[in-house]
Amino acid sequence: VNLSMSGAPGADVKSGALRARVVTESWGEHNLYCPNCTSPILVARDDVESGFECPRCGSGYRLKCQKTRIGHSFTDGPYTTLTRAIRRGDAPGYFVLHYEIVPPLGGENVRQIVDGAWVVRNLVLVPGAALATEAIVKGPDGVGCRIVLDSLPAAARIPIITTIKSSSAGDTECIMISRPEEVREKFRQFKK
Ligand SMILES: [Zn+2]
Repeated sequence: VNLSMSGAPGADVKSGALRARVVTESWGEHNLYCPNCTSPILVARDDVESGFECPRCGSGYRLKCQKTRIGHSFTDGPYTTLTRAIRRGDAPGYFVLHYEIVPPLGGENVRQIVDGAWVVRNLVLVPGAALATEAIVKGPDGVGCRIVLDSLPAAARIPIITTIKSSSAGDTECIMISRPEEVREKFRQFKK
């Protein structure tokens, strides 16, 4: 797993949110693997925003990126699309990625988006089979939704990349990367 993301894809994209999606999706194509089978890769889908698919077992996933730490919930697309998928038993798994753009030295200006280094801080996998409609709430616009992690069993939050910052001891960082076998074993608990 590569912790740094290339900012090159989408370097010409003006919107920050769209740019982040292009950068993280490109990272996902090179670093995500299927937790449901032994496939070492996932393929990005053109027809679903942030969608990925396993070329071997066909499992579907979404890669949701955010600049803030992974908290109690994360946002997704239409509420009805997801709740219907949960009822049908084919909700996608979610990779929730927390990234940071580390500004170049002395660069607190607009150019940091272009010149800063994109770094993966945390990555958590939520199996689709662990989702329940009770854990999905409508967003403020009434269309989108939020997936409430606190409403899911703790085991549904499978850590893949974890950065622990110690505030004492001179800002040291500890980065833990789970082995794919570990992730697949935890994911398997939610298979029917
Ligand atoms: Zn697979």
